[in-house]
Amino acid sequence: MTKTNIHSIVLASGNQGKIREIKQILNKALPGIEVKGLKDFPSIGDIPETGKTFQENALIKARTVMKETGLISIADDSGLVVPALGGDPGVYSARYAGENATDQDNNDKLLQAMANLDGDQRQASFVCVMAAVMPDGREMTVQGEWKGLIALTEKGDNGFGYDPLFYDPELGLHSAQMKPELKNSRSHRGKALDKLASKWRDFVQS
Ligand code: IMP
Repeated sequence: MTKTNIHSIVLASGNQGKIREIKQILNKALPGIEVKGLKDFPSIGDIPETGKTFQENALIKARTVMKETGLISIADDSGLVVPALGGDPGVYSARYAGENATDQDNNDKLLQAMANLDGDQRQASFVCVMAAVMPDGREMTVQGEWKGLIALTEKGDNGFGYDPLFYDPELGLHSAQMKPELKNSRSHRGKALDKLASKWRDFVQS
């Protein structure tokens, strides 16, 4: 039986912003682990996100990458959920304003869609589901959530996506105003990764 390489993992993502954040957190939680990204496996190409939930999409991506690389694979699927918009943009966060939408297009569309909403109606959550798939087929998923509000105007130059609009009322800051370390300590992805890291040893060794 071939022994699983538990020190090399692949993140099923081509989004450099996310890879940067995830590497930072994983390196702290799991020192000595080599973290590859999809750019190390160009033949895999784009993986269609055909699921209806964050969990389905994360599993689709992690399973595909594990099959192609034979390595332990981790994928995340994340997005912004606005209850007053029936959960939109949800799993369509990256393409809310259309297939080739930029972050600015998506932020503009969100502001427009929420133009008549105020107070609690501007509540929103970033949600992140992380899925890990082992070469022997075992799977694990964890979820993190970050609650906040959608501001009326954009602020800050850090981060990506909806960060300029997402306001954390406890800190009094927009996500794009936070340094990466601060964002990671609050964010949906940071929380999901903390959960993943705390379950990692049992997962890879059982
Ligand atoms: P995914 O690549 O399918 O997970 O799409 C995630 C999309 O959700 C991104 O393209 C962003 O629009 C949005 N998103 C997810 N996480 C964040 C974040 O931490 N900040 C800002 N936007 C985010």
